[in-house]
Amino acid sequence: MSSPFSPLLIAGPCSAESREQVLATAAGLAEMDIAYFRAGIWKPRTQPGAFEGVGRTGLPWLSEVKERHGLKVCTEVANAQHVEDALKAGIDMLWIGARTTTNPFQVQDIADSLAGVDVPVAIKNPTHPDLALWLGAFERLEGAGIKDLMAIHRGFAVHGQKKFRNAPLWQIPIDFRNRLPHIPLINDPSHICGNRALLAGVSQMAMDLAFDGLMVETHPDPDAAWTDAAQQLTPEAFRAMCNGLVMRKAGDAAGVDDLTALRTEINMIDDALIELFARRMGISEKIGQYKKANGLTILQNKRWSDLLKRNVEQGAAQGVDPGFMAEIYKSIHQASIAIQRGIMHRDGHSAE
Ligand code: PEP
Ligand code: MN
Repeated sequence: MSSPFSPLLIAGPCSAESREQVLATAAGLAEMDIAYFRAGIWKPRTQPGAFEGVGRTGLPWLSEVKERHGLKVCTEVANAQHVEDALKAGIDMLWIGARTTTNPFQVQDIADSLAGVDVPVAIKNPTHPDLALWLGAFERLEGAGIKDLMAIHRGFAVHGQKKFRNAPLWQIPIDFRNRLPHIPLINDPSHICGNRALLAGVSQMAMDLAFDGLMVETHPDPDAAWTDAAQQLTPEAFRAMCNGLVMRKAGDAAGVDDLTALRTEINMIDDALIELFARRMGISEKIGQYKKANGLTILQNKRWSDLLKRNVEQGAAQGVDPGFMAEIYKSIHQASIAIQRGIMHRDGHSAE
């Protein structure tokens, strides 16, 4: 990577499946300058009956990765027993998964089990967009004396999200960074994307937002992976993706990064706005069909004036200029009327 700074890389399979698969992945990554080799051996699964990891059977495989390739290794822990087993096996770094971060009891148990232990811990954001809960987990681990902490942004489960498996909601890691600037912030594009075609774009975004590194799931035969098959990359594809990343200068000196970060943020917001516009227009279309079927006029004036008033007031409450809000909504309303007119026309009944 020809870059002014090198991101901290964590790579390896979603799940350790067999000794051979773990070693093959590690061999593929050994030449790269990765900070940690990852492999999940205890897997929290949304649905029961799915593969829940090989458990402690996989720990010696990770030890072998250390011995053979001199790589540091990490795995997910979700309770005190996992912590004990992982530490006994010489795992170099532990991570707390998104589902665990949502549960303060569990995070506290892990923190308690780590009291007096000097091991790096990475904490993934909770599954839902709750910055305070994520920060709370850091407080618990710091309270247990853990000094070497990292944050992993893996996106958020948001109802109705289509493009990504977990919506990145970039403002949350940006706010995290402002609250805990000393904690390295790593992006996990794999769990955000859920689909390998999107990984490079999200990784670049993370670099543009000055994240400190990436955690990327890699597998020798991604399509055959027992978990998260659609989002994993071969080690070769991972290397190619990293080589394709454009690295920009970190730091505030010229203000360039601030500007890039802000513009990137604006682009993400625009993407979200466009997705919402498209959804809104889709609903307008359904409303048009309903009005047509029920012989209603396109303009329902009371509804329109209520909507305008409500949205202008809501905008004002959040500091958005009322004149601007009114303009925007008039424009949206016009577009929506045009859609509905199209529907009335389409089947030969003019709305005019
Ligand atoms: C994982 O890293 O494989 C994992 C289970 O991630 P998350 O906790 O982000 O869902
Ligand atoms: Mn995974």
